[in-house]
Amino acid sequence: MIDLTPSVLSIFIFVSGLAAGSFMNVCIYRLPRGLSIIRPASRCPHCNTPIRPFDNIPLLSFVILKGRCRTCGARIHWRYPVVELLNGILWILLFNRFGASWTILPLLFLISSLIVITFIDLEHMIIPDIITVPGTFLGIALSPLIPDSFFRLERLGMMNSLTGAVTGFLLFFIIAILGSWVFRKEAMGGGDVKLMAMVGAFTGWKGVIFTTFAGSLIGSIVGIAIIVRGKNKDTIIPFGPYLAAGAAASVFYGQEIIDIWLRWLGR
Ligand SMILES: [Zn+2]
Repeated sequence: MIDLTPSVLSIFIFVSGLAAGSFMNVCIYRLPRGLSIIRPASRCPHCNTPIRPFDNIPLLSFVILKGRCRTCGARIHWRYPVVELLNGILWILLFNRFGASWTILPLLFLISSLIVITFIDLEHMIIPDIITVPGTFLGIALSPLIPDSFFRLERLGMMNSLTGAVTGFLLFFIIAILGSWVFRKEAMGGGDVKLMAMVGAFTGWKGVIFTTFAGSLIGSIVGIAIIVRGKNKDTIIPFGPYLAAGAAASVFYGQEIIDIWLRWLGR
């Protein structure tokens, strides 16, 4: 009989989150460059020296090496420790929110995918289909296990997952068409459409609606901040990271925020 106290389990989940974050960094660097995420082993992008296992420990190695390659001294991108730490923290929060059950595995996958998508979209302005298309089908397949955030059910279920994926796809397909018609250029890419199908597969149609509003709100706040700081307002900012943040908010606190809002409306 293995008896793990919650704190030991928390540490295990956090360390697993860091390790997964290390692999996610490989995905963030290699997927948009069309490189294999399996081979070869990690190398310094500056001097191409393979990174030794003890220099590849999530978070710790970055601190020990003071953020520089051991061989050539080139700076290691800040993204590496940030992605690892962010993933470790969000995995712990998911664990606290939904409890220590293996049914949180699909949500761990969703949140980590959203992190990978955010950093790829910020740098390359694309959301790789290789994440969102299989991700959508994975969400539908695992929906009988996924803890529900919106429907006051224990599990999301196949029907809510399917209607969610279709809602996300259609809503953003229409927004993309309207956007290109109004602005005479591509305002919303096909990558966003498939991302929202995936979000719908994991959260249902209510999650799609919530993510759309939350993403737009976060996008507006950041957009205003950028204009206030005097940056060029024509700077193109990808919408994917805002949708990803909105989707994460919907997984964690969607129903709570809706309840607060309804109470505020006096219902
Ligand atoms: Zn190097």
